[in-house]
Amino acid sequence: MRKLILALATVAVAATAVVAVAASARQPPEPARRDPRFEVKVTDEIRRHSRIEETLYFAGTAYSLGVLVLLLASGAAPRMRDLSLRLTKKPFVVAMLTVVLFVLATTLLELPLTYYADFVVPHQFDLSDQSLGSWLLDGAKGLAVSLVLSAIVGALALEAIRRYRRWWLVLWLGSIPLILLMVVVQPIVLDPIFNKFEPLQNQQLKTKLLDLASRAGIEGGRVYQVNKSKQTKTMNAYVNGIGPTKRIVLWDTLLAKMTDDEILAVMGHEMGHYVLNHMWKGLGFGLAISFVVFFAGQKIYDRGIETRGARWGLTGRGDPASLPWLLLIAGVIGFFLSPVTNGFSRHIEHEADVFSLDLTHLNEPMARAFVKFAEDSKRDPDPNRFLECWRYSHPALGRRIDFALAYKPWEERKTR
Ligand SMILES: [Zn+2]
Repeated sequence: MRKLILALATVAVAATAVVAVAASARQPPEPARRDPRFEVKVTDEIRRHSRIEETLYFAGTAYSLGVLVLLLASGAAPRMRDLSLRLTKKPFVVAMLTVVLFVLATTLLELPLTYYADFVVPHQFDLSDQSLGSWLLDGAKGLAVSLVLSAIVGALALEAIRRYRRWWLVLWLGSIPLILLMVVVQPIVLDPIFNKFEPLQNQQLKTKLLDLASRAGIEGGRVYQVNKSKQTKTMNAYVNGIGPTKRIVLWDTLLAKMTDDEILAVMGHEMGHYVLNHMWKGLGFGLAISFVVFFAGQKIYDRGIETRGARWGLTGRGDPASLPWLLLIAGVIGFFLSPVTNGFSRHIEHEADVFSLDLTHLNEPMARAFVKFAEDSKRDPDPNRFLECWRYSHPALGRRIDFALAYKPWEERKTR
């Protein structure tokens, strides 16, 4: 098993190296295929920032997996369990306490990288003017939320693993109501912990948006703005929630930097997610994937406990000290499934682009919005294909710009 862990770590490190090299090898520019008015000015700064981000993604994954290997191999996890056992003998509470210690340890061990990726880099590239104090406060709030949630969910999962022979099926079934609850609760309970949400303030824009929404078949009043300028200078908009909490949210940064037509084109995309029920489709897809993942996960987990459990200081299946082993399996499988899950996501995102163009016919404003997204977030609009497949949840912006300018089926219909 040590060999397996070593192999996994090696693969992760190798992937990082491959990507770092791949990211630095620029593709030859495709000659003058794009309208110069919609050409993203790819500066050295953008190139450098993109490379750092790509490298951080893979290095971060390798680092997190490395932390889990460390906690497992060093015997730190059993010590956390024993410390919890000194306080109580109730298995469920022991599990909760162990999870809390474990989350604290991983957060601390990952702090240097988190600080570099989430604070240093955005400031270095002028993408944020959040103060260190405010950033730390956000981090502390996030940690508090994650401690509460992971203690409860983690202890329940470990209990199921101890109790049921086919625990993969129990966990998979249990994940369904949990995910639904989280999706409902997130916009009204979790998100407001970090930012202020309010109905869209600009009345003139609101009228235009409500008009667009009614043409898309959405009932009004579900459009919010959020003060993301607190954390970032980049722009975004999204749809989240289910049923009564389903909503479209616009970052205030986007409202400040885009013209009304550009905002309408972006909103058409968000409305596409809303109308095309992408939230449900995403959940369905996730559940289908996780069915296989949980099944394979149990096979690997049980085998590891059988063959190496004693060496790792574990008492058996569902031992709270086996948490790093469980998360290591989940992390590795999740990493190698990224191309699949991101491929599905890009498919859905493209559908939303099509929906917006069909609804608004705002081709050029949409392309201009994408140019702004790229220049504003300092991201290379034309990453190499491998990177796009592996980690991009949206089609690369260059591709989206080209599509926005080219997609005009209504004109063909007119001329026919
Ligand atoms: Zn989208």
